[in-house]
Amino acid sequence: MSKPTSPIYVTEPHLPPLEEFMPYLQAIWDKKRLTNSGPFHQQLEAELAAYLGVEHLSLFANGTLALVTALQALRISGEVITTPYTFAATTHSLLWNGIKPVFVDIDPATCNLDPRRIEEAITPATTAILPVHCYGFPCDMERIEQIADTYGLKFIYDAAHAFGVRRHSESILRYGDLSILSFHATKVFNTFEGGAIICPNAKIKQRIDYLKNFGFADEVTVVAPGINGKMNEVEAAMGLLQLKHIDAALEARAAIYQHYAEALAGIPTLTLLQPPAETGWNHAYCPVLVSADHPISRDTLFERLKANDIHARRYFYPLISSFPMYRGLPSANPERLGNAHRIADQVICLPIHPALTDNDLASILDILHTAR
Ligand SMILES: *Cc1c(COP(=O)(O)O)cnc(C)c1O
Repeated sequence: MSKPTSPIYVTEPHLPPLEEFMPYLQAIWDKKRLTNSGPFHQQLEAELAAYLGVEHLSLFANGTLALVTALQALRISGEVITTPYTFAATTHSLLWNGIKPVFVDIDPATCNLDPRRIEEAITPATTAILPVHCYGFPCDMERIEQIADTYGLKFIYDAAHAFGVRRHSESILRYGDLSILSFHATKVFNTFEGGAIICPNAKIKQRIDYLKNFGFADEVTVVAPGINGKMNEVEAAMGLLQLKHIDAALEARAAIYQHYAEALAGIPTLTLLQPPAETGWNHAYCPVLVSADHPISRDTLFERLKANDIHARRYFYPLISSFPMYRGLPSANPERLGNAHRIADQVICLPIHPALTDNDLASILDILHTAR
């Protein structure tokens, strides 16, 4: 078995050549404009909106502050219906706003909030739905919108995984009252740290821009108890440079996913998850389900890869509803979250990022093939 020469991680930050970044730094030094909606910040908001095919977008220091602020901007309170199958930041953003999360099970076909289970979770205290486009797989957005409209609820998408994802050639970020993105180093598009809220109109963007800058509307007017959620100029410059390379990075991801799909096609106990055919997907993750009758368990496979310096991840195990700050909620009862628990126990996300080499892939596939 060929052990890789250096560790292989589930993801690796995509870094353009350093010399391409130097002119941006020089410009920041020359202008001495470090943050507070500087020229690179404004340029990145415009270029990203155009690239993603959305009307307006407000940049943030990270995706978590974008989530917390999105909930503030719509004045969400009481109870919010959400998925347990996500990253901790989704649910934590509710607690930071004093909101009670209500977990609803996922649809095993998409790993996303199951719209058929939402209505039974609605109470008089429900004000909103917070679904996640997990792995960049689109939620059932029509059904969710229908429910939100019927019950007068707001809905915010955690689209942290969904950079550039389209459906029927239209950005999925256009759905919902708001969507949020993360540009963390581990995500498909990164600005070191960063995030954004996608806004449907200029008015709501204005309010969000106040909220991310302490609530300042002008020098002497503070309209809300805002936070400091601003992205700085170095991060914005990184975003502008990353945009020049993003299409090549997305192509490389697609090719790696295809390689896995072909190499694992003959193993019926390993199932590669993928979105519906009409999706223009970003291949943000390579989630595989290890079924109960696979010769070795998911965790044994995970440990075997690790012993060979291949660091896959069990996204999303454990479920958010199992964490101490959530497990006491009635909606966190595992009996109500059967699909989420089953998938969380079977899933392993294989390394996928543009810097993976053919040798890396061969090492990973070697291990997957020896235990089948
Ligand atoms: C990464 C992530 C976030 C948080 O984004 P940060 O930029 O790291 O704060 C939120 N939700 C999901 C689903 C994520 O994967």
